[in-house]
Amino acid sequence: MPDTDAMFSLAGKSVLVTGGTKGIGRGIASVFATAGAHVAVAARSTADIDAAVVALDGLGAGKVIGVAADVSNRDSCTTMADTVVDALGGLDVLCANAGIFPDVPLQTMTPDQLTEVLDVNVKGNIYSVQACLDALIASGRGRIILTSSITGPITGFPGWSHYGASKAAQLGFMRTAAIELAAHRITVNAVLPGNILTEGLADLGEDYLGGMARAIPAGALGTPEDIGHLAAFLASDEASYITGQAIAVDGGQVLPESPDALAG
Ligand code: NAP
Repeated sequence: MPDTDAMFSLAGKSVLVTGGTKGIGRGIASVFATAGAHVAVAARSTADIDAAVVALDGLGAGKVIGVAADVSNRDSCTTMADTVVDALGGLDVLCANAGIFPDVPLQTMTPDQLTEVLDVNVKGNIYSVQACLDALIASGRGRIILTSSITGPITGFPGWSHYGASKAAQLGFMRTAAIELAAHRITVNAVLPGNILTEGLADLGEDYLGGMARAIPAGALGTPEDIGHLAAFLASDEASYITGQAIAVDGGQVLPESPDALAG
């Protein structure tokens, strides 16, 4: 009989969440902290890092630390990983979650606007993984969880052609990384959030939020913890045979074939 008390235990695991100071990353960090993991949150704003560490500290028995990093910069990612490994004594789980979603129509998009989104969302994911690889290999059961999106891999939305391209690119990266890292017993999976109520999404305004809620069979936007719970499962020992998978957490948003499908 399996020991059900020990199932899905994350106690004592060391976890780094990029973009862990706000929104989805903060939700992921809070789920891991509550489950007794040692948690590091990384972002650029030191004020937000300090606030997140105060809020996360004490949720569980593990340590909580913050580290300033810009994931679009490879050297910054190396320093981030080294700092976390020194402070937590190793690293078992990387949640590469930091991302941006500025909107701009395709016709007026500048090279700088395109570059910024690809630098943070695509290169930022890859640099974060590369920087953490030695520690994840040393863990012997490393886990990498990417925050992608339904936008790009499954759906589209005006203004987000560059963003959608970046989120689909993450999945292309994931599939080969999963093969390359399987020999090290590292799994690489992606969470595809639908519309999750975060600081970043709230900035898009009430019209956007209301329209999205009406497009979701579940009838409401998701919470950051909804994403955190899937990340926690993918980080568990029980998920060791799941790799290279993209899993939507969207209240069924991608399912309706037309608006009529939601009418009833
Ligand atoms: P958010 O509320 O704006 O938070 C973004 C986080 O990422 C912050 O902690 C931010 O901190 C950090 N960040 C941004 N750029 C960074 C950089 N260059 N280096 C390090 N950290 C950086 O966003 P969110 O809504 O939680 O989104 C998080 C992830 O989920 C993104 O990858 C996004 O594409 C994805 N997603 C979100 C939704 C949604 O509905 N909210 C849906 C699908 C996918 P600093 O600004 O201080 O650096």
